Amino acid sequence: MPLYAGVELGGTKCVCTLARGHQEILEQITVPTTAPDETLAAIERVLLEWQDNEPVDALGIGSFGPIDLDRDSSTYGRITTTPKPGWAGTDVAMRLRRALSVPIGFDTDVNGAALAEAKWGAGQGLRDLAYVTVGTGVGVGLVGDGKPVHGLGHPEAGHIRIARMPGDNWPGSCPFHGDCVEGLASGPAIKARLGVEHLHDFSSDHPVLETVAWALAQLCHALVCTAAPSTILIGGGVVTGQPHLIDRTGQLLVESLASYISLPAGRPYVQAPGLGVQAGPLGSIALAMEAAA
Ligand code: ZN
Repeated sequence: MPLYAGVELGGTKCVCTLARGHQEILEQITVPTTAPDETLAAIERVLLEWQDNEPVDALGIGSFGPIDLDRDSSTYGRITTTPKPGWAGTDVAMRLRRALSVPIGFDTDVNGAALAEAKWGAGQGLRDLAYVTVGTGVGVGLVGDGKPVHGLGHPEAGHIRIARMPGDNWPGSCPFHGDCVEGLASGPAIKARLGVEHLHDFSSDHPVLETVAWALAQLCHALVCTAAPSTILIGGGVVTGQPHLIDRTGQLLVESLASYISLPAGRPYVQAPGLGVQAGPLGSIALAMEAAA
């Protein structure tokens, strides 16, 4: 059985996973995301220790973005324009490939998670789906015909502009776009809007959550009308803490589509990821498997 290593590079922590497949996770080590050099050096130590113990066949990296996925580009494998201090321009993929000297799969954390969900999770058996994470940011991964979707870079649907909820004029918190989906529905957006430190500092019936569900439903409307995924999975810290947001988003999506497009009957179209918190880490393993294949 091949041995795969995966790294899910997140905004606050990185999860390193050693596995033979989705049902056989051998070890998982979390490294805090601090300065790029410190974080990547810590990840290298984990990977090299595994590699010393038993040769790894391939490495998968699912990274927060935006990232350069153009293999002909001189900056392939780097994080590009992130507002995260110190990380813009950081070489992730080439550095880790040099460390391990094995084939690598490199993609966004959300494209990786979408792939894992299509292989093993709530989208098992589906050739296409969307995976939305609502946490520090809003990220969207897309799988089409069984593969992560790329083109001009990778999907950035968390930053689409949407029709606002009537009566809601809050300007939003995205440093680039103000009231894009991320600027309205991410954890930092909610905290900025309410002036609270933590997301559990308010109740599950707080009116702000209706504006979050509205923004997510508008995002889903755009996804249905463009990529037409067979299902949309929504995870991430904001939704995990307020799980009723998933059903509410599904209801608002149906209202927004206004019978123009019919969603599948007999199952929820907007649902929670089947792999739960392992969607991201197993995404990196799925990317490693693709690289090895
Ligand atoms: Zn934005």
